[in-house]
Amino acid sequence: MASHFLNSFLPTEEGWLIGEGLADPRWRIRRWDGEFVDRGAEDDYLGHAQKFMARQLLMVLWTWLAMVALFAVLDYAALGWSSSFAVLLLVRLAGAVCFLALAAAVRRRPMIAARGRAISILLALSVAAYLLVIAMRPQISLWVYGMTPLLLFMLFSFVPNRLRYSLALAITLAVCMLPMVGWIHGWAAREQGILALLLAWPIALGYYTMRRVQRLQRMQFALRETLRRQAAIDPLTGLYNRREFHHRAAQEVARARREGSNLSMLMFDLDHFKRINDRYGHAAGDAVLQAVADLARSVFRYCDVVCRVGGEEFIVLLPASNLDAAARAAERFLQRLRASDIVFGGQRLPVRATLGAATLGTRSLDGLMRLADSALYAGKQAGRDRAMLVDADGAVRPLPEGGPGDQVMAA
Ligand code: GH3
Ligand code: MG
Ligand code: MG
Repeated sequence: MASHFLNSFLPTEEGWLIGEGLADPRWRIRRWDGEFVDRGAEDDYLGHAQKFMARQLLMVLWTWLAMVALFAVLDYAALGWSSSFAVLLLVRLAGAVCFLALAAAVRRRPMIAARGRAISILLALSVAAYLLVIAMRPQISLWVYGMTPLLLFMLFSFVPNRLRYSLALAITLAVCMLPMVGWIHGWAAREQGILALLLAWPIALGYYTMRRVQRLQRMQFALRETLRRQAAIDPLTGLYNRREFHHRAAQEVARARREGSNLSMLMFDLDHFKRINDRYGHAAGDAVLQAVADLARSVFRYCDVVCRVGGEEFIVLLPASNLDAAARAAERFLQRLRASDIVFGGQRLPVRATLGAATLGTRSLDGLMRLADSALYAGKQAGRDRAMLVDADGAVRPLPEGGPGDQVMAA
């Protein structure tokens, strides 16, 4: 089972799709740079990874600063107090100031680390400085050349950057270095060829390593998001499930308390739903549930939280709504449901629902649910296909035909 699951990470023509059940084009990963093709998905990933990338980048910046200090000592050992040393020292100090500025910026806005542009610009300057060092200290340059493959690999593995920038920097460094070194030492084509191979090897290794990491990180993110979605969404209707309802309801109650605003609840249950299943089959029942969910999504506001909390039981949370507004929403829903054409297998299915409405006031979430449930129960008792309200003093009364008008007082 587990290996089947892992095997479902299959390479495809367009890129990498994740699994059969998770094969959402949103999660397609580009082959060459290991990033999501979908910009929104990539932005979400970067937002998710920003804190981690910022922490890693800060560690790199501090390490880099320590290396700059070490190199200054090496410069001194090689050049003594000279104008060359002074120029190098100035370059290194300027670099250190840039690193510190970037560290401060990343601390404030971690997204800078995730986007990767700032560190790439800094790395480009460092690469230029590195080439300058080679030009200015040819006497110790053999040692510096030995460092180059390591630096090229570090551009991929050590610095948390985006693969496209790391690759551009590494290739630029190698391409600039080849003719420079040849010119400094008067190397023939054969030596230059050997150097090219030495430089190409860490670039290829770094590229493949980082591409795999980028891809795995994004697959992990896609899985996490997919699992989160699966844990929160009812697969039949696409509405929030019971578990997510409790989570959202707790948030909405807390928000209503903090802002001193109203929060209302509609609880509804389809009438004689068992008969639909019995008469037309379970598939018809499923189609009805989907149609009712679509209707609820279109009737209620975007900010309302529509949930399927049981088989054919639904709850709608209406933020910033008093009982009057909830009653109007309930009436609208009932009318649209009565007028709806839910057809299955060429047959029009009669679908009706009973609603209970209540407002939070000073109650707890459990208290609110109990009230909405008691109103719903009263509606079923009174003959179904109607809405009942619990008003401010706790009395259950029917939603008047033709809309709540002024008979329903705001709680
Ligand atoms: P009432 O008006 O009193 O609510 O009667 P009812 O028949 O709607 O209520 P009851 O609780 O007796 O039956 C609910 C039915 O909903 C029973 C169950 O088989 C069906 N049901 C629950 N979940 C699903 C589902 O996902 N798909 C289908 N097709 N039916 C479901
Ligand atoms: Mg029912
Ligand atoms: Mg029921």
